[in-house]
Amino acid sequence: MTGSRILVVEDNPLNLKLIRDVLQVAGHEVIEARSGEEAVALAGEVAPQLVLMDLQLPGIDGVEALRLIREHPVVGRVPVVAVTAFAMKEDRDRALHDGFDGYLGKPLSVRDLPEQIQGFLAKGNDGG
Ligand SMILES: [Mg+2]
Repeated sequence: MTGSRILVVEDNPLNLKLIRDVLQVAGHEVIEARSGEEAVALAGEVAPQLVLMDLQLPGIDGVEALRLIREHPVVGRVPVVAVTAFAMKEDRDRALHDGFDGYLGKPLSVRDLPEQIQGFLAKGNDGG
């Protein structure tokens, strides 16, 4: 299994470090963005295989950043997973309704995250 290039969008430095460390240990290449604007710009530059998108961001939020990424002619179909502190079922449903490919609730599980990421990557590779 080879690592994938993953764009992690997170404005909280501690959360960002946690996700980065876990993904790097799992063999992935991590590109960091601290705002939605940065995420949109970087997505076009680095062509990630997966995006983890915090929903609560300064400036444009994760939903708007997703919308802008989807407009990109090359990387527009990259799988984008919503990450949010809200863990209510309706938040999950809304994230999927907003066009995210999946959903992770905070706090993230350090133990489960690598397998969850593999699942999202596998789904993305289905070509569906
Ligand atoms: Mg945030």
